[in-house]
Amino acid sequence: MSSVDKGQVVAVMAEGKEHALAVGCTSLSTDDIAKVNKVGRLTKAAKRLYSDAYPKITTHYTIHPRDKDPRWKEISMERVQEETDILIVGGGPAGMAAAIRARQIAEEKGVEVRVTLLEKAAEIGGHILSGACVDPIALNELIPDWQEKGAPMNTPVTSDKFGLLTSGGRIPLPAFRGLPNYNHGNYVVRLGHLVRWLSEQAEAAGAEIWPGCAAADLIYREDGSLKGVATGDVGIAKDGSPKDMFERGMEFHSKITLFTEGCHGHLTKMVSKKYNLRENSEPQSYGIGLKELWEVKPENHKPGLVEHTIGWPLDKNTYGGSFMYHLKVEEGEAPLVAVGFVVGLDYSNPYLSPFREFQKFKTHPYVRPLFEERKMSNITRQTRAAAKAASAQAPPRPL
Ligand SMILES: Cc1cc2nc3c(=O)[nH]c(=O)nc-3n(C[C@H](O)[C@H](O)[C@H](O)COP(=O)(O)OP(=O)(O)OC[C@H]3O[C@@H](n4cnc5c(N)ncnc54)[C@H](O)[C@@H]3O)c2cc1C
Repeated sequence: MSSVDKGQVVAVMAEGKEHALAVGCTSLSTDDIAKVNKVGRLTKAAKRLYSDAYPKITTHYTIHPRDKDPRWKEISMERVQEETDILIVGGGPAGMAAAIRARQIAEEKGVEVRVTLLEKAAEIGGHILSGACVDPIALNELIPDWQEKGAPMNTPVTSDKFGLLTSGGRIPLPAFRGLPNYNHGNYVVRLGHLVRWLSEQAEAAGAEIWPGCAAADLIYREDGSLKGVATGDVGIAKDGSPKDMFERGMEFHSKITLFTEGCHGHLTKMVSKKYNLRENSEPQSYGIGLKELWEVKPENHKPGLVEHTIGWPLDKNTYGGSFMYHLKVEEGEAPLVAVGFVVGLDYSNPYLSPFREFQKFKTHPYVRPLFEERKMSNITRQTRAAAKAASAQAPPRPL
């Protein structure tokens, strides 16, 4: 660089090439001009994002307040209100277990307690994703006679396999008692089915289950305490205007609100921020899990076999691995294997695609025969974030 120094270049970068030329930086090198242009473009994009001078692409009411939008003038924004004693947001295993336990305690104490659970999936279990190999320890405490009551936990683990994959082979690793990959005594289940069964138990215990109800916002009392949640409005057009079938969400007010939204729940995050609930706790770490259900050849199907791998195709710096759970099926049903892949979301290679790693994994010489000439069941392919080592990062006091 001849006629300008580095400091001047940095100064003009924020304004773009035109500004650089305007202040007389005519002799910038090609590299510097490229940098100036790049930084200038980024700066403009950031300005667009944060400035009121540019129209926002979103039509969301937090950006375009409805009270200032003439299209919303005639629309009633009153919400129907429901009062309950214990409100549970999210109908996964945690929410269902909480609903059942709350009703059990109410029964034991002989008190009338209204327990209401909101689930955003149109049907219970619809958003549940997991292999899954489940330790029955909690269910034994919650519903000791779960077997007599027909819980869909009918594939006890019969054998455990654990191995490290290299690009062409597999090194067997031990699954010692006490390690997380030791699964004897556990059950291979379809978690969606188990959650549906839990919801029947919760209803039988007296809880009210509201499927198709996504809690979208928090409601506070005047003293700052949490009053409950509001469900989302429906019937909003793409341009942010109300459709004819617009329906305002409902408000659920409650003495106690439990958030069981699963990993990364947006209301859980809002309430954690408001009450500083994650103070003094380790940051949460996350993984992404992909799962498919495959119909395999009968000769490859070993109900109760639980298999995990680490290593290839992931490199040594990337946390993750696979699972293959062989499900017991009824006579006449296709033999099923739940296969999945989890990748820690702290991977350092920005080009890594967890989905592609999963596809690659299925081509490994050790794994491939299970899938060859077979088809993925038309039942599922799902992707979901999962909390890694959740107990280590739990807040020091309950949410
Ligand atoms: C690929 C994969 C494999 C896994 N394998 C296993 C395994 O083998 N064994 C095991 O024990 N665990 C396994 N897990 C973990 C297990 O699935 C979770 O620990 C468990 O599902 C957590 O239960 P939860 O009730 O906290 O949350 P979730 O199961 O995530 O349920 C949350 C529910 O809340 C609903 N919800 C969320 N937000 C709202 C809202 N605002 N309003 C209304 N409803 C809402 C969701 O629709 C969902 O139904 C696996 C996870 C993944 C992703």
